[in-house]
Amino acid sequence: MDLYITFFGKAELNGKGLLYIANGFSFFERKEDKDYIDLYVNRDKPASFIEKEISKHQPVDTIYCSLSIAQDLETIRPFITDKWVLGGPLASGLIARGVDLPGKIIAGYYEKHQGNDRLSCQFTPYFRDWAQTEESYFVSFNCSIGKGCYWGKCKFCEYRYFDNQGKADGRISLRSNIGDIVAQLRPLPGVEISNAHLGIPAIPPKALKQILESKRDKQFGLSTFMRADDTILDVLRAYKDNTICQNMFVAIGCESLSQFALDKLNKGTTLENTIEIAKLILERGGYVTYDIMDHYVFANRQMVAETLDALKKLKEFKCEYPKQRISFYNNGVTQWPTKEAVNEFTDDYSHFDHLGYKSYITNIPKNSDAFECNRQISLALQNSGFWNFGEPYKSLEQA
Ligand code: SF4
Repeated sequence: MDLYITFFGKAELNGKGLLYIANGFSFFERKEDKDYIDLYVNRDKPASFIEKEISKHQPVDTIYCSLSIAQDLETIRPFITDKWVLGGPLASGLIARGVDLPGKIIAGYYEKHQGNDRLSCQFTPYFRDWAQTEESYFVSFNCSIGKGCYWGKCKFCEYRYFDNQGKADGRISLRSNIGDIVAQLRPLPGVEISNAHLGIPAIPPKALKQILESKRDKQFGLSTFMRADDTILDVLRAYKDNTICQNMFVAIGCESLSQFALDKLNKGTTLENTIEIAKLILERGGYVTYDIMDHYVFANRQMVAETLDALKKLKEFKCEYPKQRISFYNNGVTQWPTKEAVNEFTDDYSHFDHLGYKSYITNIPKNSDAFECNRQISLALQNSGFWNFGEPYKSLEQA
């Protein structure tokens, strides 16, 4: 008997239940003979709860566990044995960093782990019945269409150093049949809104094209991360149909509304593109969230002026759309994945440990110009009239 652990999280918006299922073993078709047990674990539960649940199912041959975020690993770490197989979005980063754990970590697809070279094209949301029991208005799950980033050059990004191993090209693997995959995603029974996250850090132009040309059910939501570069804009510009992005929830890795900052980060995008991409997605029926970062050690007057100017331009077309169609998400204080990366900007930093490796955060004194500029940028975003969510702005925190 095998045990499959899937984490989930629950939230509430305006009194309605939202369910987020982290599901890294997404693509294989479950065996009919039921020689496995699914264990769905709410991320709110302590490790002792999970350990107890697992112990109810002994003896098990293999425990498969899909990891999406560091918190999942920290929860199960105390009781991982060599019976465990760890997969999911976090797995390739763990391997690249050489994180030492008992059991096996698989970065590839589950089918390959099972010795099956042919990847299944049918996505079977095996949690369908279980999701219904949670009585949620909105259910989102992970439907990974590939790994790695086609750009792989942003200085703050872990993918550059780990998933892409410092190389922009050749470190991306994509499903060959993305159009077929999204076309067979169907709303879950009893759920008002069903949504799949495409699970890739920056959707490549080739994949976006396949999705836009697929016969997908436009009542079914798709979420993805996107870079505002010319290759992506060219794809979007080519489609004039104003429903082509319907129910697509696009998080644009914008980081900052200042060109000065984008260049410092080697983001490879322009502010003009960042604004145009939002317009194109909104016009074509989609939703846009600008993912930004906070607390830049190099913040200056130029960044403040450029942010104010960009906000003005965004406001010019924002009023044409309901508030929820365009928003800002603060990912929090900028973190740097290596000492070399942070050293390029300052030698005044601290670090924190997670998963057995370090992330670096710069120290910005409260009486400095950089702190004041960050404060002005955060205030401008917060008071912009756009929906702001995510982390609180660091420089606006009470002393
Ligand atoms: S585009 Fe996104 S995933 Fe790619 S390197 Fe930049 S931040 Fe990382």
